[in-house]
Amino acid sequence: MTIDEMTEKECLEVLQRASLGRLGCAMDNQPYVIPIYLAYEPGFIYVFSTYGKKIEWMRANPKVCVEIDEVKGQTEWLSVLATGRFEELPEPQFEMERAHARELLQKRHHWWLNALAERRKSAPDESIMPLFFRIHIDSVTGLRSQNQGGSQG
Ligand SMILES: Cc1cc2nc3c(=O)[nH]c(=O)nc-3n(C[C@H](O)[C@H](O)[C@H](O)COP(=O)(O)OP(=O)(O)OC[C@H]3O[C@@H](n4cnc5c(N)ncnc54)[C@H](O)[C@@H]3O)c2cc1C
Repeated sequence: MTIDEMTEKECLEVLQRASLGRLGCAMDNQPYVIPIYLAYEPGFIYVFSTYGKKIEWMRANPKVCVEIDEVKGQTEWLSVLATGRFEELPEPQFEMERAHARELLQKRHHWWLNALAERRKSAPDESIMPLFFRIHIDSVTGLRSQNQGGSQG
């Protein structure tokens, strides 16, 4: 097995086809990582989000990272890390960006948007207020492992 660095172009291709990632944020030296659905477009990662700890933490410290991986087996995988800055997209000043984010995310995560809408009907509290945010991507890195003719697993 070899492990090679991926080019920036390869990393961005992975982001382009990704739908699930892990979002990492931190406060007071304590990291916090959660799974999220996301949509990439050049320069940005868009997320549709509930209100909660991650939002509170990112408001306090906008430095975040997102990890995405594709794992075919123990010796065949890739992993991409994007680091960047959180930016919330509140109404009404980010109306256009929110519509754009919704359009991008709806292509892949309709069920998640619908599930939130349903949940909101039954419990219309702040914790499930729909929020959009985006991450301004500052840098990406990637590693890819490959089998060299050996068995996979
Ligand atoms: C496949 C998948 C896709 C998801 N996509 C999205 C998305 O696109 N947008 C979105 O907002 N959320 C998404 N979620 C849910 C997300 O992972 C969080 O659980 C949720 O957003 C609440 O996070 P919070 O920081 O607001 O939690 P809070 O409600 O503030 O959490 C309070 C506490 O609950 C615990 N907790 C919260 N989330 C998790 C978790 N996932 N696993 C274990 N413990 C947890 C933590 O200990 C935290 O301190 C997704 C989850 C999965 C599994």
